[in-house]
Amino acid sequence: MDYRQLVEQAVEANRERILELSDAIFDYAEIGFREFRSVEQFTRMLQEDGFEVTCGLDGMPTAFRASYGSGRPLIGLLAEYDALPDLSQKAGSDVRCPADGPVTDGHGCGHNLLGAGCYAAALALKEYLAQNPGKGTVVLYGCPSEEKGCSKTHLARDGFFDEMDIAYAWHPFAVTEAATYSMLANVSVFFRFKGITSHAAAAPHMGRSALDAAELMSVGVNYLREHIVPEARIHYAYRDVGGIAPNVVQGTSCVHYFVRAPKNYQVQEILPRVVDVARGAALMTGTEMSWELYSGLSDLIVNRVVTEGMHEALCQLGMPELTEEDWAFARRMFLAADSEEALQMKIDRIRAEYGDRAEEILEHPVDMEIRTPVWNGQCQMGSSDVGDASYIAPLAFLSLPTAVVGTSTHTWQMTAQGKGPIAHKMVLHAGKVMALAAIGMYEDPDKVAAARAELLKATGGRYDCPLPKELRPRLEEG
Ligand SMILES: [Zn+2]
Repeated sequence: MDYRQLVEQAVEANRERILELSDAIFDYAEIGFREFRSVEQFTRMLQEDGFEVTCGLDGMPTAFRASYGSGRPLIGLLAEYDALPDLSQKAGSDVRCPADGPVTDGHGCGHNLLGAGCYAAALALKEYLAQNPGKGTVVLYGCPSEEKGCSKTHLARDGFFDEMDIAYAWHPFAVTEAATYSMLANVSVFFRFKGITSHAAAAPHMGRSALDAAELMSVGVNYLREHIVPEARIHYAYRDVGGIAPNVVQGTSCVHYFVRAPKNYQVQEILPRVVDVARGAALMTGTEMSWELYSGLSDLIVNRVVTEGMHEALCQLGMPELTEEDWAFARRMFLAADSEEALQMKIDRIRAEYGDRAEEILEHPVDMEIRTPVWNGQCQMGSSDVGDASYIAPLAFLSLPTAVVGTSTHTWQMTAQGKGPIAHKMVLHAGKVMALAAIGMYEDPDKVAAARAELLKATGGRYDCPLPKELRPRLEEG
């Protein structure tokens, strides 16, 4: 049976409500673990829609679970709604201009759209399950603080996703595809050095410099890079440099490291070597070193069965029509760059990446061509805590162009498009695609079994969470 119509109607009937939620979360722009107003509105609306809602999960007040239906399969939708610091931007403005009002943070990663798209899918699946009672359950998981707190890693480790048979996620980007790439596993670690302060000219021999230790650690890690897998990424930021006075031997320092690699086990191999480098730096400088695991997340396990189902749903639904006004908006936003040079770099990159399609894309800068799945084990050089959910249940990850080609996430240009006409169309569409893909699973238990068998083969049934049990969500830091 063709469920396209059901999905289209269910989402269109709730169009105003879905966009109201998306725009409200955009305006609240709350950063990780402080998404109180966003979650209040999100859960209130789900309750009004007849979902059973539990607020607060696993010690995270802004995590929630909203379910509808009964029996298996249980299909999970992974919703996010956290903003990024200092990325407030007036919606639709093509010059850098923070939004009016006191809020300084902004949705530079489009998570307002991400959350609302999952809401749209949940409403369509509720309609399907109301018409087909007993066919299964839909659960929308409210997952706070994706940017920093890795709530999904905590939820996965602590068993909150164990009930899921299949999981769907999506992200607002600038391309159209059911993603076939993995993403990097990552751990976030603080290294602290403790030395002895002293007068840097009168008595340097009485001091032991913690800043020297941090610098030597950076040098050591930069030598380490050649001897780890080439896809690994290590980056750092100084959090404490021991003060600003050159004439004082610095008694403290702290460096924040990310260690990323295509697989969890590779990160776990590299991390002790980075710790050894830090130890060496302490030994060389006569300082003391301590380190602390701040957070972490897993690589993404690509599931072909579920991803192909999502690709089929995407092809069946096609893409929404954009009007002349939409294209005018797109062209204006395409020109929104920090400088002439930045715009030229963007154009050059599009010419290089799009080849034959480059001129068409420059004229119509929204990439709505559905990408053909490529199964070559590629890994995208980014990370997401969706990875941890993908170890627990077969998962598909949708990407739709809510932003014009060449827009980077975590920028004011991304924020600027988060309430625009194209983003609105794509939010509704994301809901339709995920819902139609999910119905394909409710209708075909063999597919669910095949997807689970594929996951079992990929992981051997093992999930070694990068976070130890005793590490609780860092609610204060976000
Ligand atoms: Zn994001």
